[in-house]
Amino acid sequence: MARMFYDNDADLSELEGLKLCVLGYGSQGRGQALNLRDSGLDVTVGLRKDSPSFAKAEAEGMKCASMEDALTDADLVAMLVPDTAQAKLYRDFVAPRLKPEACLLFSHGFNVHYKQVKAPRENDVVMVAPKGPGNLVREVFQAGGGVPCLYAVEQDATGRATRKALAYAKGVGGTRAGVLATTFAEETETDLFGEQAVLCGGATALVKAGFETLVEAGYQPELAYFECMHELKLIVDLMYREGMQGMRRAISDTAKFGDLTRGPRVVDDGTRARMREMLAEIRDGRFAKEWLAEDAEGRPRYNKLMAADADHKLEQVGKQLRDKMSWLKQSAKKPEAAKKNEALLVR
Ligand code: NAD
Ligand code: MG
Repeated sequence: MARMFYDNDADLSELEGLKLCVLGYGSQGRGQALNLRDSGLDVTVGLRKDSPSFAKAEAEGMKCASMEDALTDADLVAMLVPDTAQAKLYRDFVAPRLKPEACLLFSHGFNVHYKQVKAPRENDVVMVAPKGPGNLVREVFQAGGGVPCLYAVEQDATGRATRKALAYAKGVGGTRAGVLATTFAEETETDLFGEQAVLCGGATALVKAGFETLVEAGYQPELAYFECMHELKLIVDLMYREGMQGMRRAISDTAKFGDLTRGPRVVDDGTRARMREMLAEIRDGRFAKEWLAEDAEGRPRYNKLMAADADHKLEQVGKQLRDKMSWLKQSAKKPEAAKKNEALLVR
């Protein structure tokens, strides 16, 4: 078993009295900055001068400043702007102001691993990557829990990089759930693979293909939506809480037999071979090169594909159905109420 780090393995005092600078107030920037502050640390959020996040961060009681001011004298800089913006932000703002011995922190290894950001040798370079979106990093923390995190050390200039990374992970709540040691390479490659093959790409392609198969065969789109999209959450929630076997305890024997005998026909050796190809493209840098070039060209393919999916019948039908399920919008805040309503819908 890999070694996991919990609250007792990390010491917040590593970061006490230091000036932490969180760049960006999006998904991770907001979640992490608020949690660090509530953990008693001195956090300043650095934002672009015209950023719409200024008002939001201030309303939430965060200390905010321009990128320049937030970076001045910072002992730790968390790079929480989009991956495609980090290289330029680093070059234009961070590098000219980074103190020797300051710690540069990432929540995803992309820019370090693919050599878009190269910090001086006298700086610590670490990663604390929550394995969940920023809104959950915040909500779970407020509820007394934490989102599991990965941590990695790319450069340990001060001899304290590991302790600082673990303290940061504690500050965002990660050590409440468990923090796993990794490397920038492992985190980057597995994170990209996971989002492409399973979590985002795999899941949306599976849902779309199932929905389209039913609708093409003449079944009602609304029913196809409930079957292929809505119910997925209930199944995934069971797997999340109790594993695959726990999920299977909750479904009928008929569903189990179909699951065990038909699932492998959906994801077969061909799918596995293509997964290995996707992993190879990630490992040798082809995916990163393609994505950075796409971004540099103004994202023509990305925009076209996003628009096509926004127009998909699944999304049109889904929106109408979800609009009638008012509690879905509150489900993050009222899990119990939402759970009861969801349970009614399974039958
Ligand atoms: P995001 O897309 O939510 O954006 C972050 C903020 O950066 C926004 O507030 C935006 O105003 C600001 N920003 C955008 N473009 C900018 C630019 N050109 N210059 C300066 N600021 C700019 O970002 P995110 O999803 O929180 O991702 C931040 C980091 O966290 C990334 O490295 C990402 O891979 C990682 N990460 C994200 C998640 C997630 O769930 N979103 C999970 C784990 C790790
Ligand atoms: Mg990712």
